[in-house]
Amino acid sequence: MEARRSRFLDVLYPRRCPACGDIVRPKGELICPECRERFSYVAEPTCLRCGKEILEPEMEYCYDCTAHTRSFDGGVALLNYDQRAKESIQGFKYGGRPEYADFYSAELMRRYGKRLRRWRIQAIFPVPVHRSRERTRGYNQAEVLAERIGELLDIPVWKGVLVRKKKTMAQKELNAEARQRNLEQAMEIEGDLRGLKRILLVDDIYTTGSTAEACTKVLKREGVERVYLACVCIGKN
Ligand SMILES: [Zn+2]
Ligand SMILES: [Zn+2]
Repeated sequence: MEARRSRFLDVLYPRRCPACGDIVRPKGELICPECRERFSYVAEPTCLRCGKEILEPEMEYCYDCTAHTRSFDGGVALLNYDQRAKESIQGFKYGGRPEYADFYSAELMRRYGKRLRRWRIQAIFPVPVHRSRERTRGYNQAEVLAERIGELLDIPVWKGVLVRKKKTMAQKELNAEARQRNLEQAMEIEGDLRGLKRILLVDDIYTTGSTAEACTKVLKREGVERVYLACVCIGKN
């Protein structure tokens, strides 16, 4: 994929920088060298559960992971969700820049490859979006990311197995508990997970953790024992 891209696609559609949106120079890089430091990368100490930065070093878990039930077992995140990260993700999701996934995944591997390998993941699941959303966008960004990470880790990606059935609506009028239940009911497994014990969930943004929690619950109900997360952006405490 990579070689094919550099030979043909780069001529027609030169690779764009995930930070500034301009054409990346020198050719062959995934980000402009001077843009690399423009992102705010997640730094230690991080929450033992979700991977979010923690402000007080004596805390083990972030505020959200302390306040809410967490069924997932660990997580890594690349960027703090600031304005630049937000613009990058918007380009990735709505601006027709799936190539940003190459930078996100390579950087995730560089920083967290060891941890991801230690988790002995057997399969990667993209966090699903409702099909109607996928249609308007042309692709599910979590799926593109999952594929890149899968290639780098040499782990299969299971697409279309964890699916989002119902469009969740009127969420604003519901309290947190009802909202969580609503999300869980929207997630379904289509297929057989027998033998799968450790999986990695991949998404572009992690905010409150409610989506990850809903996916994890559904997966664990089917016999998965460990669910880990990898995402590009994560909200701050
Ligand atoms: Zn740039
Ligand atoms: Zn946390």
